[in-house]
Amino acid sequence: MHPDKHPLLSSSNMIMDNPALEMRYRQTKIIFTIGPATSSDEVLKELINERVDICRINMAHASHAWTRAIIQQIKRVCGEVDRHIAIMMDIKGPEIRTGDIGEPIYLEQGQLFDFLMAVPNGDASQDGIRCVNVNYPNLINDVSVGDTVLVDSGLIRMQVMATLGDRIRCKVIIPGQFGNRRHINLPGVRVGLPSLTEKDQGDVAIGLEEGVDFYALSFVRDAEALHSLRAVLTEHGSKARIIAKIEDQQAISNIDEIIEASDGIMIARGDLGIECPYEELPIIQHEVIKACIRKSRPVIVATHMLESMIEAPVPTRAEVSDIAHAVLERTDAIMLSGETTTGKYPVECVKVFKRISQRIESFHDADPTKELYLPTPKGKMLRSAVYLANDIEDSGLVVFSRSGYLARMLSSLRPQVPIYAFTDIPELFRNLLILWGVEPFQMDFSDDPETTINHAFDYLKRKKWVKEGQTLIVISNALAKDKVIDTLQIRRVE
Ligand code: PEP
Repeated sequence: MHPDKHPLLSSSNMIMDNPALEMRYRQTKIIFTIGPATSSDEVLKELINERVDICRINMAHASHAWTRAIIQQIKRVCGEVDRHIAIMMDIKGPEIRTGDIGEPIYLEQGQLFDFLMAVPNGDASQDGIRCVNVNYPNLINDVSVGDTVLVDSGLIRMQVMATLGDRIRCKVIIPGQFGNRRHINLPGVRVGLPSLTEKDQGDVAIGLEEGVDFYALSFVRDAEALHSLRAVLTEHGSKARIIAKIEDQQAISNIDEIIEASDGIMIARGDLGIECPYEELPIIQHEVIKACIRKSRPVIVATHMLESMIEAPVPTRAEVSDIAHAVLERTDAIMLSGETTTGKYPVECVKVFKRISQRIESFHDADPTKELYLPTPKGKMLRSAVYLANDIEDSGLVVFSRSGYLARMLSSLRPQVPIYAFTDIPELFRNLLILWGVEPFQMDFSDDPETTINHAFDYLKRKKWVKEGQTLIVISNALAKDKVIDTLQIRRVE
């Protein structure tokens, strides 16, 4: 059989770009992290025109001056290309770091090494055992003999042998080079650091001043962390959404309360893969995506999705499969980190994300998700709307929203058709960008629902999202005499 004819092949020429695939509406959202590789106007414009949805600013590496400037630049460039994306500020959260050690040293297997609690810089070594300060003096009360200490994402592994007043004495299990200000992970240890550090609070203040749409909070361990950040945002009148980054075992244990208290979840596979046995990662990813769909919260799969493309122009086969896996599980969004901060091929990475998403989405189930429980009549109407839209050729769903609730519920049903979500609130428009399959638009609403529907249809036609003759399923209020009622309408584009 000629390859063109095989049903598994999507195009007449699998090697070249595939225009049919490019035309397909993409439901999986794309987040990129901004950095030196992407912070010129030129590259930013390219990325926005390639239809990235959210720009992430990683505060672990950003000064306040740079953050202010970059937020203003993103907003300006969006205005220039007339397409608006959302901004996500990723806050570092509680992190344990070592102090300076001077010249890097090589730690041999079996060697003893001390972590010092609040000892001023200087050589406080005892018995000839090398040592370094840590930024969290209470660590000594959190660890127990036998715990594992990982340095530099697990490149060096140690085991706690003793806690000795002002120091934790460890034995090196996996040797390696130890440098200055290293990141420490403690798998399975409940760390007592505050969820919102002083640095985080300063970062949030910048986000509030400059206006960001999402805060991603690192190392969320329970719902309390999210309540604290929410209280700060509410106090300042901000409706920004909070994304909880799931990075350790404690977060997994408390996942239900975290999902409930959050506006979305990021499966932060970098730290998660250090804090948990790596073979657990695919299971965690699978379960968290399902739980998020069930609770109608957007979910992001992050880290190492195209790691090899930091240096190379094409993905590895394993990376293609990893992205496809996340898309098949119907994650809301996939994220680029180092690939777009310092990588050599940031725009190509976005193209790879698009191409894989668009192809793999064609394999999704026809039926709306069963996970989402919708007990009310209105909820059941939404599920019916999805059945209907899926059953009508070349259809779409149109929804009007001021809280985002309807768009979120429809998104969690994972329909096969685009969800055109209209809102008159600019912040909500950008918040909707994270939702699977939702294409948000900002438009003024009329007091008369019929006029609002007509304006929405005119807009969709003018911008070529739909064409004459198409049938759209509209979920809207309608006036019935003196009553406002919920309706599900079948409308033809005239
Ligand atoms: C991660 O650990 O996967 C992650 C996204 O967090 P960060 O990049 O902030 O370390």
